Amino acid sequence: MKPTPVNPAPNSSMQLLEEGAALEQLSRRGAASDTPSTDVERYDVIVIGAGQAGLSVGHHLKRTGLRFVILDAHPRIGDAWRQRWDSLCLFSPARFDGLDGMPFPGDPYRFPTKDEMGDYLESYAARFELPVRTGMRVDRLSRAGDGYVVAAGGRRFEAPHVVVAMSSYQKPRVPAFASQLDPAIVQIHSSDYRRPSQLPPGDVLIVGAGNSGAEIAIDLINAGHRVSVAGRNVGQVPFPVRRRFVRRTILPVLFRVIFHRVLTMDTPMGRKARPNFVTRGTPLIRTRSGDLAAAGVVRVARIDGVRDGRPALADGTTLDVTGIVWCTGYSFGASWIEPRVFDDHGEPIQSRGVARDEPGLYFVGNEFLYSPSSAMVHGVGRDAQRVAATIRQRMSSVPVH
Ligand SMILES: Cc1cc2nc3c(=O)[nH]c(=O)nc-3n(C[C@H](O)[C@H](O)[C@H](O)COP(=O)(O)OP(=O)(O)OC[C@H]3O[C@@H](n4cnc5c(N)ncnc54)[C@H](O)[C@@H]3O)c2cc1C
Repeated sequence: MKPTPVNPAPNSSMQLLEEGAALEQLSRRGAASDTPSTDVERYDVIVIGAGQAGLSVGHHLKRTGLRFVILDAHPRIGDAWRQRWDSLCLFSPARFDGLDGMPFPGDPYRFPTKDEMGDYLESYAARFELPVRTGMRVDRLSRAGDGYVVAAGGRRFEAPHVVVAMSSYQKPRVPAFASQLDPAIVQIHSSDYRRPSQLPPGDVLIVGAGNSGAEIAIDLINAGHRVSVAGRNVGQVPFPVRRRFVRRTILPVLFRVIFHRVLTMDTPMGRKARPNFVTRGTPLIRTRSGDLAAAGVVRVARIDGVRDGRPALADGTTLDVTGIVWCTGYSFGASWIEPRVFDDHGEPIQSRGVARDEPGLYFVGNEFLYSPSSAMVHGVGRDAQRVAATIRQRMSSVPVH
């Protein structure tokens, strides 16, 4: 596997402003938004995605007075959460599940359900009157002259600034050898997994030992399946998050200090840790190896192919299973973004959310955009605020013509 190119540490002049021609270009593009048109909708900023990342950007843009719209493919705000599996509760307690300006309601140390999270996002958008247009899947984002054109839902939107605000979890990833498995084995990716009844009775293999794999393993074992989990060790937090005492005392240090302030693109430790977060995922947080063993989940070696239609393990054995859940993660899924600003892992090459070499394009919500908290509810607001501030500064630095 190729090494992950680490985004270079931001430098403050790059981070906020490009000088000279590029900056003037951006300001002129803003002026284009005053031209009325019936066919095209023009804004100062288009935000793509109305999950926690897009809504956070909207919250901070609202304070700038710029004209913006937030486009989202789902019919309803919060659907990215509602469509996850039935038993899913957040691994972050409610205290860490609120966005800027609106705490998550209820007991701060409980784990909210995924539907509560979806509803919270919907009420956040309503409370701050954010201009979200749902049912608008963006099919293409391209450059046109000095600005960007967004094609969505048969409409055309234009703006000098576009923020792509969505997690790195848009396109499910499954190894190519999955297609060689016996068709009698039911296979689903974790993004399509909802409940144990989707799998036939019998032994289930979970491929991928990260947070999703661990939580789905428990869901299946509680429903009476025998479950084995294959995949490399992603590490785990060294304390039991299920204990309320830990949630009150240790978790704030992990989330707000280590994941938010210590491991960042501005620290050597953070830059060193980033490739692991991007390629392997977050360490196990709530359901840890000990919980899996205690529940009867069997750990097996990595799956590295298929033999006689069955999953073959790296240790030479094969498994006889009726179902497989691929918890093998996602890729960013940015094939519709024409400017090629991506590294070998498909993640945007950026500095604090500002795309390199593509003035006016920004990213928020990606895995380790600036720190591990960038892809978590409690941390996304900082990146959103920085991007909104950059746009405001770029728009106001040269008088609009
Ligand atoms: C199973 C799971 C559990 C998690 N649990 C936690 C947790 O407990 N705590 C925590 O802090 N984090 C958690 N996360 C991480 C992260 O908080 C979530 O993934 C969160 O949903 C990311 O928010 P987002 O806004 O960046 O992206 P998303 O929630 O994925 O939202 C992106 C939005 O963009 C829209 N979109 C995508 N493509 C297009 C397009 N082409 N055109 C228009 N719209 C588009 C989608 O419709 C979607 O609404 C979890 C992640 C997963 C996968």
